[in-house]
Order: sequence, then structure tokens, then C-alpha cells
Amino acid sequence: MSFGKIQELIKKKNITFKSCEYHTQRKLENGGKIRVLVLNGVAHVEYICPNCKHYEYLTKEWKRPFSVKCSNCGYLIRVQKMKYLIKKEMKNLS
Ligand SMILES: [Zn+2]
Repeated sequence: MSFGKIQELIKKKNITFKSCEYHTQRKLENGGKIRVLVLNGVAHVEYICPNCKHYEYLTKEWKRPFSVKCSNCGYLIRVQKMKYLIKKEMKNLS
């Protein structure tokens, strides 16, 4: 399963490291993952739930600490300490 939605958004809007407030992609337990891109206070989120493997793309208001509830099983996915990952992440995009 690939994360296409946020990648598309980045290409379409020509987003650079300077123009996005936050961006990270993290591996979660049990093969789950989450990717978060924040633009103008709105978080664009893609995740694979570590509990039920449900995939979803959604947008929600950006708040810290940030968490997303799986719409399939209700598992709470927390995203913490993401800042240090941004530079590495943006490098991988170019
Ligand atoms: Zn789930």
C-alpha cells in the first residue's frame, strides 16, 4: 500500500520545505504508518492503522499533540516528536 494522496498534493501545489509548516512520515507498530503534511493550519493525513490495517486519507485541523482516530476500529494513532524528521523527509522527496 503506497501513500499517494499527499505525494500528489505536494507535486500539484509545488510545496517546498519552506511553505509547509509540518511534514512527517512515520512507521508505526504492526506495519502501520502515518504521513502528515500541514498547510495553512490544516493537517493532511494518510495512515494505515496498526490495529486493523485500514487505510485512509483525511484532513483535519492541526493541533498539538496530534492524533488521529481510525475510522474503522477506533484505534487512536498518536503523532509525537515529529519535528526532527522534517528535514530528512523533505530530502527524500527531491
Ligand atoms: Zn483501525
